[in-house]
Amino acid sequence: MQEDNKPPSERARIRRASERAHYDAETIHTIVDAAWLCHVAFACPDVLCLPTACWRVGDQLYIHGSNGSRMMKHLASGAPACVAITHLDGLVMARSAFSHSMNFRSVVIHGHFTEVADEAKPAVLAALMEHIAPGRARDSRPPDASELKATTVLGISLHEAAAKIRNWGPKDKEDDLALPFWAGVLPMREQHLPAISEPGHEGTLPSYVQTWAASPATASA
Ligand SMILES: Cc1cc2nc3c(=O)[nH]c(=O)nc-3n(C[C@H](O)[C@H](O)[C@H](O)COP(=O)(O)OP(=O)(O)OC[C@H]3O[C@@H](n4cnc5c(N)ncnc54)[C@H](O)[C@@H]3O)c2cc1C
Repeated sequence: MQEDNKPPSERARIRRASERAHYDAETIHTIVDAAWLCHVAFACPDVLCLPTACWRVGDQLYIHGSNGSRMMKHLASGAPACVAITHLDGLVMARSAFSHSMNFRSVVIHGHFTEVADEAKPAVLAALMEHIAPGRARDSRPPDASELKATTVLGISLHEAAAKIRNWGPKDKEDDLALPFWAGVLPMREQHLPAISEPGHEGTLPSYVQTWAASPATASA
């Protein structure tokens, strides 16, 4: 992550459509914080790309999983990894089929994961609960010793990351602009729906539940 919008490394430099590139921490953090999941690519030895939950604390992106997970065991060894986070914001309809596109915010992170030490795990996992819903860490039973022991928590630095953003309309070729076809953007976003309480729940709903459906879903950067 760079404050001067310069790529942090050659492999993180966005070459194609480089006008969509952002390398500053604020942009990268905003896109990461709007995500509940990422896709992690690694070779073990077959190339795999797996979806998993993620959250950020400072300049680290964290993932967690069972100690027995092949992904967690492989990544805990310090193997090279690449993480992608994607938000789809719209379908871009041009007059020509060729010029159709998508509006999006994405981040790609290069590096390797390191294992979070046992003593640091409770705080990092509490941050996951707070990411799910502010206040949830205090509003649920914390993991006990055996649950903590069974869980691997891994962090990857956001230092070597790039963000790519497209948030504009279609770019038709000059010759296509007079064609009679509709052109524009079909916007889309994640939507929060009303909470579904478990049977038997009585009493006041926590504020993060009350406000869930009214709270804004991820918005375009
Ligand atoms: C929702 C969505 C839909 C897309 N659809 C298409 C499509 O249909 N066809 C297509 O060719 N491309 C599509 N892209 C863009 C695609 O992700 C690549 O950026 C693009 O294909 C260029 O690939 P490249 O190997 O030439 O990248 P390069 O520019 O050579 O990549 C160099 C480095 O830039 C960074 N980088 C590359 N892409 C991204 C990214 N999206 N976000 C953050 N960092 C990045 C990585 O660090 C990478 O190592 C889409 C992206 C998104 C998010």
